[in-house]
Amino acid sequence: MKIKDVFRDGAWRFHRCRDPFLCSMIAEIEASNICLTDGRDVVLWKRGVDDYVSKFVSSDTWNQIRQLRDRVNWSKLVWFSQGIPRYAFITWLTIRDRLSTGHRTSIWGQPQCCIFCGEPDETRDHLFLLVPIPL
Ligand SMILES: [Zn+2]
Repeated sequence: MKIKDVFRDGAWRFHRCRDPFLCSMIAEIEASNICLTDGRDVVLWKRGVDDYVSKFVSSDTWNQIRQLRDRVNWSKLVWFSQGIPRYAFITWLTIRDRLSTGHRTSIWGQPQCCIFCGEPDETRDHLFLLVPIPL
């Protein structure tokens, strides 16, 4: 959005909103003493700290909103150029123990036992035979 769209006749004219983040941002803008006489009124995308560009690049935006973590030594086993993204994602969920197993869904109030053997505590290790199946 351009400044001319929200600053008319010497006053800010933002649309009403309920989002607390947006409300605080609007309050900050209205309280600031912005000089509107210099510069062009253009849309810019933030690429980094004090780095703004006119061209939108989704990877730049993604790198700003995500939390960077150290690369794990098994990442190339899961994420590689010829890999099928769906399988890579499921593998990644499995390694991180984030699959929606019965054990995890019971935490959310949706208990579910193993449909193969009836084990009440369906965990990742149980599904991938990392623990013995009860007989
Ligand atoms: Zn089972």
